[in-house]
Amino acid sequence: MTVSVSFQEAPDDKAPQFPDNGPPLAEVIAKAKAGGAVTGADAFALLAAGPDSPGSLDSLDSMDEICSAAASMRDQGKGKTVTFSPKVFIPLTHLCRDFCGYCTFRKDPTQAGKDLFMTPEQVLDVAKAGAALGCTEALFTLGERPEQRYPEAKEWLAHRGFRTTLDYLTHVCELVLNETSMLPHANPGTMARREIAALQPFNPSMGLMLESTSKALYAAGGPHEFAPSKRPRVRLRTLELAGQLRVPFTTGILIGIGESRRDRIESLLAIASLHAEFGHVQEVIIQNFRAKPNTAMGEFPDAETVEFLWTVAVARLILGPDANLQVPPNLSANNYQIYLDAGINDWGGVSPLTIDFVNPEAPWPALADLKTKTEAAGFQLRPRLPVYPEYFLGTKEFLPDALHQKVLATADPEGYVQGGIQRYVSST
Ligand code: SF4
Repeated sequence: MTVSVSFQEAPDDKAPQFPDNGPPLAEVIAKAKAGGAVTGADAFALLAAGPDSPGSLDSLDSMDEICSAAASMRDQGKGKTVTFSPKVFIPLTHLCRDFCGYCTFRKDPTQAGKDLFMTPEQVLDVAKAGAALGCTEALFTLGERPEQRYPEAKEWLAHRGFRTTLDYLTHVCELVLNETSMLPHANPGTMARREIAALQPFNPSMGLMLESTSKALYAAGGPHEFAPSKRPRVRLRTLELAGQLRVPFTTGILIGIGESRRDRIESLLAIASLHAEFGHVQEVIIQNFRAKPNTAMGEFPDAETVEFLWTVAVARLILGPDANLQVPPNLSANNYQIYLDAGINDWGGVSPLTIDFVNPEAPWPALADLKTKTEAAGFQLRPRLPVYPEYFLGTKEFLPDALHQKVLATADPEGYVQGGIQRYVSST
């Protein structure tokens, strides 16, 4: 059963709505174990398997059941391969027109000083240094349309011949693609059709975290009250436009910022619905909130492990066996391998060079450690490109011709990074 939702017409206060009751949990788990994704009303039965949910015979047994069903579903679709993307993180600008209650990435011009944006030379230096270490992804993460709030940003861009941050981003993506061996992955916030189309020739994939479809998060006092770009409607619209333009797209949800379990299910169903229509959601990130000092949510508790585990398993069951499901290992440094038991098949971008500028307190695991823990759990760790093999091997549906050729030249015959894990970690 597919959920049909019209995002174009949904006003802000009408995020996708789903029914209250589903069939019994046991029935839904049996369906998942038989290989079928859990969609629509069925998904809400999973609420009964939550860590402290009343009404289930034994909530811990239920948690084990859904994790086991999720792991089995992952095995059916992905086998025993777990991937990561060797990357550099390029924070093109920390300036942002929005204010989110948990963010330490954003800066205003006073805090940024003279470095309002990275220059093309600085961008190329990082990309080339990453390439020298064997990285293949240049991740561009930046604040949302700073020129709309700060005249300084507008002047910086105009002085160099650019009208908007997205125009400048397109320019540096083209530079990196043409002057290095790296593949850009732009993650610049919400985008219009024309902006996605401009970036498309230089980005084999792009991304935007949905975060959540919860209305409560942008109500007064919520973390997104002062962040218009975090309205679910505009983020879902960006995902929809990317689908229409055939761009392999990364999205995900953020756990522990005040949303409910039901909100998470609704968010995942909204992503599943878009993927069912366009087939372009190449991976879904399940990211746990971590409180940061000196933010509005600095005293908020971090997302609990059991809560996060439930969400990861539910995500696999809703997204199905073929989805690429990711948990960032640096945000669960003490126990990240447990999420393999809940159905993930990807660790996301891991950098041997640059920090996670969004979570600067959380260092990436060493690739040797990632390999050891992944193999101890019974999986093979393989490096992947920023675009997954299913979007360029044996298909010309997604990538423009010139970009497709470069991606193919960077990949091995199975679509992974040439040289495999041995390129980063010696086997002795
Ligand atoms: S999370 Fe993103 S949109 Fe929100 S304030 Fe930070 S940089 Fe801006």
